[in-house]
Amino acid sequence: MKNVTVNASRSYDIIIGHGILPMTGQEICKRVTACTAAIVTDNIVDSLYSDAVCKSLQETGFSICKFVFKHGESSKNLTTFGQILEFLAQNQLTKSDIVVALGGGVTGDIAGFAASVYLRGIKLIQIPTTFLAAIDSSVGGKTAIDLAVGKNLAGTFYQPSLVLCDPDSFSTLPKNVFADGIAEAIKYGVLSAPQLFDKLAQGNPHLDLASIIEQCVTIKRDLVMRDEYDNGDRQLLNFGHTIGHAIEHCSGYTITHGHAVAIGMVTISQAAWQLGLSDLDCSKPIKASLLANNLPVSSPFTAKQLSEAALLDKKRRQDSITLVIPRKIGQCILHQIPISSLYNFINQGIREEA
Ligand code: NAD
Ligand code: ZN
Repeated sequence: MKNVTVNASRSYDIIIGHGILPMTGQEICKRVTACTAAIVTDNIVDSLYSDAVCKSLQETGFSICKFVFKHGESSKNLTTFGQILEFLAQNQLTKSDIVVALGGGVTGDIAGFAASVYLRGIKLIQIPTTFLAAIDSSVGGKTAIDLAVGKNLAGTFYQPSLVLCDPDSFSTLPKNVFADGIAEAIKYGVLSAPQLFDKLAQGNPHLDLASIIEQCVTIKRDLVMRDEYDNGDRQLLNFGHTIGHAIEHCSGYTITHGHAVAIGMVTISQAAWQLGLSDLDCSKPIKASLLANNLPVSSPFTAKQLSEAALLDKKRRQDSITLVIPRKIGQCILHQIPISSLYNFINQGIREEA
């Protein structure tokens, strides 16, 4: 079992271990007195993993209530958010109870948001069941829902009290959902782990997932501890995301987060190289690595569509937007551009792909 400790506004452990899902109750009990646990999950994860988690919680003295919503990004909205809050209230959850987010990033983001505002905040346990949620969304305390205008436009910073991650649960992931996580892992490689990048670039199906999760969350943990509220270095984690979010938006969320980030990383790297902002052309190894992992490297959207959608992104501050630029594999920098240059920047990034 691996343990990574995060010391942010709240200190908590990320426990990574094969087969820990059926020991959920025992692990939570070490940190929280038995109480009511409100499990929030989507219908797919519910059918696969709820029973094991509920059984373990009940055996260790927890009372259970469960809220199940329809899987997918389209549920990460105000309606589901409101339903979760009403559900918590109807079940009389108190400040000493816990919300357990069991699922992928959609579940973690929306359950985390609800836990952060219900009674002005009750304890949150993250149990990520996708590779992407394990290495990214379950850690670091960003919670969110999408608004009609754009993605993740409402949310809070709210650290969980514990993250429990069982890589065995990835065995049931559809290939493309697993690949979403690989895209984020490649992102960590480009940010600061060239050896991890090389390992993933081979598209090897037999990865030591527990070690990769530990490596990725350690990189994220270090950035979160330096800049919990995203005013500086934490923004490096947004590599590929400004354009990625634009692609998700333009596709009506039919292109998933990891796939969109993959395309975003290629676009930004290509533009950075064309505009003389990188020491090396990182777009070539990034593209090769993504393709080896069955991830896309381009989208059908125009620079106009993407720049308009990107301006809705949270990274925009008044007249400028901060982009993450790879200097070389293993080193990225923050780079501010005026919003008037964004169209040209994206155009440079997608031109080469033709
Ligand atoms: P997701 O939660 O929609 O999960 C993808 C699909 O996999 C869903 O259909 C789900 O039902 C299914 N699934 C989940 N676990 C499964 C399992 N073990 N076996 C079989 N099927 C399973 O999406 P995701 O890719 O996990 O997360 C994407 C979301 O995370 C986006 O909304 C993104 O904005 C958010 N995100 C947040 C942060 C953050 O810091 N808060 C970081 C990265 C991404
Ligand atoms: Zn992401």
